[in-house]
Amino acid sequence: MDAAIRTRDLTKAYPKVTALDGLDLEVARGEVFGYIGPNGAGKSTTIRLLLDLLRPTRGSAEILGLDVRRRGVDVRRRLGYLAGELALYEEATGRELLTFLARLRGGVGRAYVAALADRFGLPLERPIRELSKGNKQKVGLIQAFMHRPEVLILDEPTSGLDPLLQRTFHELVAEVSRDGATVLLSSHVLSELEHVADRVAMIRAGRLLAVERIEDLKRSAPRKVAVTFAAPVAAEDFAGLPGVSGVDVRGPLARFTVHGGMDAVVKAVARHEVVSLTAQEPELEELFLDRYDAKGAQGGPPGAAAPGATSRERGADA
Ligand code: ADP
Repeated sequence: MDAAIRTRDLTKAYPKVTALDGLDLEVARGEVFGYIGPNGAGKSTTIRLLLDLLRPTRGSAEILGLDVRRRGVDVRRRLGYLAGELALYEEATGRELLTFLARLRGGVGRAYVAALADRFGLPLERPIRELSKGNKQKVGLIQAFMHRPEVLILDEPTSGLDPLLQRTFHELVAEVSRDGATVLLSSHVLSELEHVADRVAMIRAGRLLAVERIEDLKRSAPRKVAVTFAAPVAAEDFAGLPGVSGVDVRGPLARFTVHGGMDAVVKAVARHEVVSLTAQEPELEELFLDRYDAKGAQGGPPGAAAPGATSRERGADA
């Protein structure tokens, strides 16, 4: 894989807690990659290690093929970063701060900054200290995107944004990704990532549990089907069909769950007169959490990862 971000055995241990435990991760160029886990899972630690704001206990990380420790300056030139806990100069206005940061970076188009501010509806002339959390977050996002970086690393980017602005943000991510940028973004809520990410990695207690394509998660998802027929039907009409389980028939209403292809179900249904049919996908969150709980059980409480975990445990699903 032509990786934009690659970590090998990346580990950060504190005296009482292994915040990140042997992370092996590859994010392809041009990919939008979601990083999900509950609070305390190790998301920010990973991101801070990638930014070389923290030093690993062991292991290494590369961005665009450059070691983040030895080539930190070169990496940062090509990177956009949004911190999880934003600290901005409170006295400056949004415009002053962005102009200042743009000068530090160089190569930032004024028109692009203005366009981004306009798109997010950021009041540029107000002092930062007077801005709401959401408006501060917009300043953070604009400074991350304004130099059109090749790689964007965004820690909880949609926190504080209302749903409309989340959509604006998702559109922006899709645009820069189409132009070839790689985006890694973290969240503790999968639904915030499902419309924007190609793949999602899930971590818990410092360990990588799974990396999945959103598409695959959706495809493998069981569907809850409910059919209302014009006349009563028999449970046996559906019970034996491939992939069908949990058949519940009450008069003309049939409900069941379908795993895999729907072909046999559609044909069986079509033998009767149909009034209405719905096929509902479960929430992605639910699907992920199912696997999560099964595997997380070995991991102990969040943040309590044992430093002596074996590589099999660590990398089971990588
Ligand atoms: P997330 O971003 O997923 O919420 P973090 O990466 O912030 O999680 O934290 C992972 C774990 O490491 C947590 O248990 C946290 O308490 C611990 N941790 C983070 N920073 C430090 C630190 N400087 N000293 C000790 N423990 C820390």
